[in-house]
Amino acid sequence: MSSFKKKQKKIAALSKSITVSEERGCIVLRGEADDWSTVVKAGRIAVDRKKYYGVVNNIRLKGFEQSIRLPAEHDDCYDGAKPDVLIIGGGLVGCAAARELARYRLDVMLVEKGSDVAAGQSSRNGGAVHVGINYSPSSQKHRYNHEGNKMFTQLAADLDFPFERTGHLMLIGAKWEKILINVLLLNAKRLKIDGARYVNRSELLEIEPYAPSWAYGALYMPSGGFTSPYKMTVALAENAVANGAKICLNTAVLGMETEDGRIRSVQTNRGRIIPRIVINASGVYADVIAEMAGDRTFTIHPRKGTDIVLDKKVGRYIRTTEVKSPITVIGDGQKLSLKKRIEMIRFALSHENTSKGVAVIHTVDKNMIIGPNNLETPDREDITTDRETTEMIIREQMQAAQQIASSDVIAYFSGVRSPTYEEDFQVRKGIFCENILEAAGIQSPGATAAPAIAKDLARWTVEYLEQSGPVEKNTAFQPIRKGVPHLNEMSESERDALIKQNPDYGQIVCRCEEISKGEILDALRSPLPVYTLDAVKRRCRPGMGRCQGAFCSPSVLQILAEKRDCSVEEIRKSGEQSTILLEKTKGKSV
Ligand SMILES: Cc1cc2nc3c(=O)[nH]c(=O)nc-3n(C[C@H](O)[C@H](O)[C@H](O)COP(=O)(O)OP(=O)(O)OC[C@H]3O[C@@H](n4cnc5c(N)ncnc54)[C@H](O)[C@@H]3O)c2cc1C
Repeated sequence: MSSFKKKQKKIAALSKSITVSEERGCIVLRGEADDWSTVVKAGRIAVDRKKYYGVVNNIRLKGFEQSIRLPAEHDDCYDGAKPDVLIIGGGLVGCAAARELARYRLDVMLVEKGSDVAAGQSSRNGGAVHVGINYSPSSQKHRYNHEGNKMFTQLAADLDFPFERTGHLMLIGAKWEKILINVLLLNAKRLKIDGARYVNRSELLEIEPYAPSWAYGALYMPSGGFTSPYKMTVALAENAVANGAKICLNTAVLGMETEDGRIRSVQTNRGRIIPRIVINASGVYADVIAEMAGDRTFTIHPRKGTDIVLDKKVGRYIRTTEVKSPITVIGDGQKLSLKKRIEMIRFALSHENTSKGVAVIHTVDKNMIIGPNNLETPDREDITTDRETTEMIIREQMQAAQQIASSDVIAYFSGVRSPTYEEDFQVRKGIFCENILEAAGIQSPGATAAPAIAKDLARWTVEYLEQSGPVEKNTAFQPIRKGVPHLNEMSESERDALIKQNPDYGQIVCRCEEISKGEILDALRSPLPVYTLDAVKRRCRPGMGRCQGAFCSPSVLQILAEKRDCSVEEIRKSGEQSTILLEKTKGKSV
């Protein structure tokens, strides 16, 4: 029986109402299902990386309709714009691509439906800069993660965003688990990952003095690190704008007009744009955008992850990123049967494993983040959190970092990853549309990989545009960007000097994070418009400390309203619907 027929049979066993066909080099699924797990299972069964471009899963979930969060703006301010390049999506990939393209004398326009950059996954992740030790050597994840990881030291220095190369650890709980580490080390050799090695418990304690008591040893990977994904996105975007790129916030792509395998125009809520080439960096909507261009060969099946932020006081108990080995069974490791152990090792080493999963991460802001979990969800924009999940994550991670208590939790957040069923990135030139580049399926380790992905996107864009004439280098390109100064990281004499220059730096607005009015005003002078409370947070962190903004939010609102010359009631938390203050009662806004 052919592999296609086998897939048909397996999917029919799942549900009789699903049809499977081969179309344009893809496996296409249609029909209706009662539950989301059937939709995902069918998609997974359909995968054949060797024979097909990908799985186009059009199975509808009964009773579910995706509601896309759209901006409130409806005007024609970009109508008729004719950029050389239109980038869809202001996440890490889109903003990194805009910056790379600003190295050329091109008219670069980026549209983002949110009211700030990093509105999607790029502000909703733990910020681990991954080593990528268990990827398949032939995967795009490996290639881009490996190149991207190496670019961080220089990029962070040029763009003044936080990055620390502290190393990552994978802890094991029993001697037999060293097999896993040895196999991973062999893979590290194949992948040319430098410096990875096994460390026994005493070496582990030198690296992580507070490592859990059950840890027998660890795989130490010195090339791992962590960054602030949202500060990095802002830095890339600001530098792109400073070098001539245009970033249009609150601007959503709603449709496209195509002809003879080419995009003629792109419809947005702010008018029709006529680009020469389009870069699809739209995260969880990448398949929807590819469909508009007639270039869809993949499906995004959203995968939600919740992270928990812990107080800074526990941040000092960990210096690296710690991952519990996927086969560690604490306290019971020795009792497993050989068959079960082999099964678990195979699972742990599978190149097809999905998102990276739970870890304990020391953040650049000295907090600790624990999470995220993995949950398949039909809703691409479901960023809710729930008690059951957060309790599960805390319980699980208390084993990896034994100093954690539930009273240390200061915030939760969720993000939705954008995997394809093939579980690899789809960074490529258009297959059925000549003037689109796809950057799809960019789930973890997408934050690490983004700078390297952007290099390819820029190179292919220039190659395409050069078909109709030379593309000149932007000789005025300035790679250096200076971020907002962080007074809480300065020595007393440095602070004093700044306060003497500008007394606003001496006026503390956020007590938990020690953020001054001067820093907030600097953030508002960004080359990008800063419309919302969350946009201020992404630039200088007021409201991200222990009290989560209970004390400083009114002052930040006031500063933002004065700067924008509007009333405090008009300021939103993030999107249009996130009203903070409704109206005045007794002369005060509530
Ligand atoms: C919980 C979680 C944890 C993660 N942890 C890590 C980690 O530790 N390390 C790591 O390397 N990676 C991690 N990742 C992955 C990483 O965050 C992503 O791979 C990366 O941010 C993807 O960037 P992007 O630009 O492709 O997508 P996004 O950041 O999602 O950007 C896409 C943008 O497109 C916009 N958009 C969508 N549709 C439209 C439209 N029609 N018109 C205009 N704009 C549109 C969206 O609003 C969004 O801002 C994690 C992801 C999640 C969710």
